[in-house]
Amino acid sequence: MSEKVRVRFAPSPTGPLHIGGLRTALFNYLFAKKNGGDFLLRIEDTDQNRYVEGAEEYIVQALNWCGIPFDEGPGKEGAYGPYRQSERKNLYEAYALELIEKGKAYYAFDSSESLDNHRKDHEAKGKTFIYNWHNRLKLVNSLSLSKEEVQQKLDAGDEYVIRFKSPENEQLLLNDIIRGEIKIDTNILDDKVLFKSDGMPTYHLANIVDDHLMKITHVIRGEEWLPSLALHQLLYDAFAWKAPQFAHLPLIMKPVGKGKLSKRDGEKGGFPVFPLSWNESQGYREAGFFPEAVVNFLALLGWNPGTEQEIFTLEELVQSFSLERVNKSGARFDPEKNKWYNQQWMQLKSDTELAEIFSKDLYERLGERGKNFNTDYVTKVVSLIKERASFVSELWELGNYLFESPSSYDEKAVGKQWKEDTPEIMQAIVGILDGIELFDSASVEAKVKEWISEKELSFGKVMPPLRLVIVGEMKGPHLFDIMELIGKKESIHRIKTAILKLSN
Ligand code: GLU
Repeated sequence: MSEKVRVRFAPSPTGPLHIGGLRTALFNYLFAKKNGGDFLLRIEDTDQNRYVEGAEEYIVQALNWCGIPFDEGPGKEGAYGPYRQSERKNLYEAYALELIEKGKAYYAFDSSESLDNHRKDHEAKGKTFIYNWHNRLKLVNSLSLSKEEVQQKLDAGDEYVIRFKSPENEQLLLNDIIRGEIKIDTNILDDKVLFKSDGMPTYHLANIVDDHLMKITHVIRGEEWLPSLALHQLLYDAFAWKAPQFAHLPLIMKPVGKGKLSKRDGEKGGFPVFPLSWNESQGYREAGFFPEAVVNFLALLGWNPGTEQEIFTLEELVQSFSLERVNKSGARFDPEKNKWYNQQWMQLKSDTELAEIFSKDLYERLGERGKNFNTDYVTKVVSLIKERASFVSELWELGNYLFESPSSYDEKAVGKQWKEDTPEIMQAIVGILDGIELFDSASVEAKVKEWISEKELSFGKVMPPLRLVIVGEMKGPHLFDIMELIGKKESIHRIKTAILKLSN
């Protein structure tokens, strides 16, 4: 029987989740669910200097908002907790010592001052200082010192770090599900610190130990971690543990130009790059994006289904997802496409759900007056105008005339449509409307058109000015639908008001 798929999203709580991190979480979720596996959240908070208050709550809330909750993690203890590394800190040292015992790691006593000097010396010669096989015997560590000297230093409580002993002259063959085989010459690797002088593990050690203990089968993470892959593989080998499979996701690139999408790009372009607001930065949620649209858009940022399909529910994404269809090259972030997804999802949402959100907006704008419009009315408005909207917040601009009579008329349109005989025609329309019993769109349309043919008038003489007085400008959906919605009394009232206002 093959082992159960287990993946983890392992953010460091150093701030809000950037859109790239959110996509990493999403791909982990999709892969887990596709394979009937578990999706874990592990908080990598061993670096206390970079810890940011509130970041963990933010991450949890963001995943929940997107509808991609984790199966195990902080607050949802499974069999492999705790899930915050700060709460696991006591277990890492033993693993670092195990590596020393196996001859795969060593104590290093070099002071930060002496290392700085080495760095500066190298820089002055235009070189980079690397601590590894080629110089470690000349530095202060348990490989260069005698056993006794080392023991003395340890007994005296001298500060030390534990470094990995990178092998010399080995050709590593690494494998990445997305990138295929990667060859690395171990001579270029440095002896990374695994355990720090403050008694905390570094990212590399804690990450490997936890992935092993938490039975992670696949590590899916951003491309920025690809340079760490060789060390991680070597660590698995050093412990004689089976390594998980790795998949490094492509970077998310700026809308224009070169480079990685940044917070600044969002600020400059006026689009969110965070799921939820964080300090001054507006999030997708607060900007009125639907979580379904964000998830749908993010899924196609670097992954493709191999078909023309663009709109996916989360369930459909789970069904179609595979790591093999993730691209190697960076995925350009297109804010317009992002909006388009929201527009598409807005059409898929039920009118009642949208009406509920829109009602809040109405009450804010109209105060008590907003309450004159019941849910049924607001729902009808939504169904009439949502087609052209990408956000609920655009509905007011698109349909304010369905809630209040126009306070002014578009001047250009007046100049073009309001002729000398228009008041007379409009007056006649008032008479016709007045006589209609059942004031629905089809009946009103039939009666008005009948009258136009009877009078042998052109539609152009009647319909555009009629729209102008009902809407205030030349926009909007089918005019008779609008009239049905606002009703007979209001339609007549608007025409009469316009006759007074426009016929000086
Ligand atoms: N803590 C790392 C991060 O912040 C995790 C990288 C990984 O997934 O291995 O992204």
